[in-house]
Amino acid sequence: MAKLLEGSILAEKIREGIKLQVASLKIKPVLCSILVGDDPSAVAYVKSQAKTAEGLGIIYKLHQLDRNISEGALIDFILNLNADKTVNGIIVQMPLPVAIDYKLVSEAISPLKDVESMHPVNMGKMLFGRANMVVCTASAVMELINSTGVDLYGKEVVVVGHSEIVGKPLMLLLLEKFATVTVCHIGTSKAGKLQEHVRRAQVLIVAVGKAGLIKGEWIKEGAIVIDVGINRVNGLIVGDVEFEVAQKRAAYITPVPGGVGPLTVTMLMRNLVKAAKAQQ
Ligand code: NAP
Repeated sequence: MAKLLEGSILAEKIREGIKLQVASLKIKPVLCSILVGDDPSAVAYVKSQAKTAEGLGIIYKLHQLDRNISEGALIDFILNLNADKTVNGIIVQMPLPVAIDYKLVSEAISPLKDVESMHPVNMGKMLFGRANMVVCTASAVMELINSTGVDLYGKEVVVVGHSEIVGKPLMLLLLEKFATVTVCHIGTSKAGKLQEHVRRAQVLIVAVGKAGLIKGEWIKEGAIVIDVGINRVNGLIVGDVEFEVAQKRAAYITPVPGGVGPLTVTMLMRNLVKAAKAQQ
């Protein structure tokens, strides 16, 4: 039976370190959060960010903007926060209304205040292996793998999902550790090759958002399984991996909820402290 990789326990340990770093700063760091509209998942994430920030001595300022705001007005709002010296970090909650191009919005945030590390400058620094701040979800996944003590050097790692916030940054972080990385996506599934790749994964990371996409019987004996997916099924939150069967085959597995999620917000706060230090 796999050992559970519980994000909340690890997050608590990391937060102790962040608290000390916050206390050592000359200022109380300020994180500005922009919420456009009232998407329920974004609202829930904002609440969790506010609570985590409070516990760490971080000032969390929520700016709630009308769902009909134009792309230009949202960008102007961000530019004002960029210019405000009292603001250390800026996060724009996703999803944004469809009329707004999230890539343009991400590019408007100053790279120095980009605590989600989605700005092309910060993405580029990741490619160079020189990023000060790393994309939060990808960073959370790396912390969970690291907590197992398993060395990634030469391991077969399969990532399912190639989004900008999970799969693509993870690919770079895993390569830095000299893992052999395979990134699967919709094309892999359509070609009927997903099972074949998953079966040989010593470390499997899944970030798709489709419950039951990864069958438990595909999991390699002794694998590390990190399930990033969040799906609501019959009122329950589940991941992308068939948990019960997978748990019997894997050596380590993240529960959903309670795996990656609790760590992601902690990574955000860690980035804020890094941003505040770089701005001092
Ligand atoms: P996304 O942008 O929609 O990306 C999903 C990825 O899965 C895409 O690369 C997509 O490929 C791929 N995909 C779709 N269907 C597939 C299939 N049948 N087989 C293989 N790949 C397939 O989503 P995301 O933002 O990365 O989020 C993914 C999941 O993680 C969601 O459930 C989200 O809620 C969750 N999440 C959790 C956290 C956390 O902290 N726990 C953070 C972020 C996201 P194409 O684009 O080519 O279709």
